[in-house]
Amino acid sequence: MIHPDTYTGTTDKGVSLFAKRRFKKGEIIWIADSADTILPAATYRSFSEQKKQNVNSLGYLDSKGRFVIPNDNGKYVNHSCSPNCTYLLEYDNISVAMRDIGAGEEITENYRCYYGHLENFDCQCGVPSCSGKLKGDDSFLPSLRLRLNTIAPFILQHRQPLLNIRFEDRKDFLAALNKHNYGHFKSQNLFARMGSRLSLELAFPAAAH
Ligand SMILES: [Zn+2]
Repeated sequence: MIHPDTYTGTTDKGVSLFAKRRFKKGEIIWIADSADTILPAATYRSFSEQKKQNVNSLGYLDSKGRFVIPNDNGKYVNHSCSPNCTYLLEYDNISVAMRDIGAGEEITENYRCYYGHLENFDCQCGVPSCSGKLKGDDSFLPSLRLRLNTIAPFILQHRQPLLNIRFEDRKDFLAALNKHNYGHFKSQNLFARMGSRLSLELAFPAAAH
């Protein structure tokens, strides 16, 4: 589910998604939910070329090798080589503002942060660091994701309406966030103590994908 404070518009890149208001670093912009289309790889392979093209442009591959197509405007998030949103390293299928985003600014992700994307195109993001071409086989780059222990203090500072959408694989993670009532902490101490991956695993047991 895409954050409700977003809207679509048309740019040179086609349909694009924009922020309706200012977002702060750590706000969850998109989270997978049960209404999304999730295709096993075998199903995708059985599709016609035309249908595959459609999946390629709107979907991405998750950590389980499935094609995920968001059911709402989440599928219109475009690529940028200097994005304002990205996924968490430890948790797939959740996209977070990696910096503050201005009202009217386009919501973007670097497609190379996905476990896989299947598009080949000339990037038009226009940033000085633009790599020019995107290829369907240039994922997955873990360095483009956020580590939970660095972004969690920001995540927990905000009301997160999307966390009300439950995604069964992420239940433990969401329950942990809910427990802290979206961030009046207490949990600042918790996260201050989290210096290692081990402590993260203790705090969020059985949440690995
Ligand atoms: Zn670019």
